[in-house]
Amino acid sequence: MTQKITENIYRIELPVSVGLLDSVNVYLILGEPSLLIDSGYDREELRTLLDKSLSELGTSIERCDIFLTHMHPDHAELAIRLASEGKTVRIGADEADMLNGRKKGPDAGPERLRSLGFGEDFIGEFFRIVAKKRPPDDKSRFLGVKDGDRLLYGGHELLCVGIAGHSPGQTGLYIAEKGIFIGGDHILYGVAPSVNAWDGEQNPLSLYTKNLLKLKELEINTLLPGHRTMTCPVNERIDQLISRRGKKLDETLMSLKRGGCMSPFEISSVITWNTRWDRLTTFQKFSAAGEVAVNLEYLVSLGAAEKTVEGGVARYLAT
Ligand SMILES: [Zn+2]
Repeated sequence: MTQKITENIYRIELPVSVGLLDSVNVYLILGEPSLLIDSGYDREELRTLLDKSLSELGTSIERCDIFLTHMHPDHAELAIRLASEGKTVRIGADEADMLNGRKKGPDAGPERLRSLGFGEDFIGEFFRIVAKKRPPDDKSRFLGVKDGDRLLYGGHELLCVGIAGHSPGQTGLYIAEKGIFIGGDHILYGVAPSVNAWDGEQNPLSLYTKNLLKLKELEINTLLPGHRTMTCPVNERIDQLISRRGKKLDETLMSLKRGGCMSPFEISSVITWNTRWDRLTTFQKFSAAGEVAVNLEYLVSLGAAEKTVEGGVARYLAT
């Protein structure tokens, strides 16, 4: 489905199941060249849909430059493959370094799962069914953009805005003259964006929160999210997301006070999720424990909890 947002700017919705979500949005800024923002998964049926939508708008992927809001596969998989075939793709500088092999990517090795408190059976299962190798890519095709960079497409000036938190280098595009912000998964409606830990960043939640508040300084009338559509003003949604995080932090702290010294896995199995813990998939359990770890690190930064690491497992205690 294609929706016109404003002059030369279109939303193309690709139907695909992503956790609780049933589609992903990519955006097109029509011009010479055009700019495709995010690409979706690298799957034949999605590629056919994308090609059809682009053709109806009078362009094709070959005639588009590509910008990725972030490197998660539901947004970036196709573009990552095209980059390996020679296409130049722009993405936030940190993630460009990871994709170009100059910086270690998000860490989901066995040590990471052990530190969250998962047992060896779970870890074996995780690597059997979930973790897949990324296809090899040409190591020079990702161009990094930085906060404050400006791009020009379709007669619009696009300001790159660093919004790390949901991913290590997520970057949005702000079109000041229209009050439009293309924001990847930084702000979503109906679901809260996940904030998970990655290598070298111990407290992504404080970064995420800081970058939520940063958007209040921009005048955003239209937020174009990576999934679904905007259903209330951006500042209202930012307040809702911060308040929801606060409740999750409270619940995490209460669990620690009741349970004593606990690993992220132990806490994640007793707190509230949308679905009962025993019905979550292996990957959802890993993500849930990762989110809890992020909340725990935030509580440590506030002085509300202490962390110990023994035998590679991180455990936390309320202070
Ligand atoms: Zn994402």
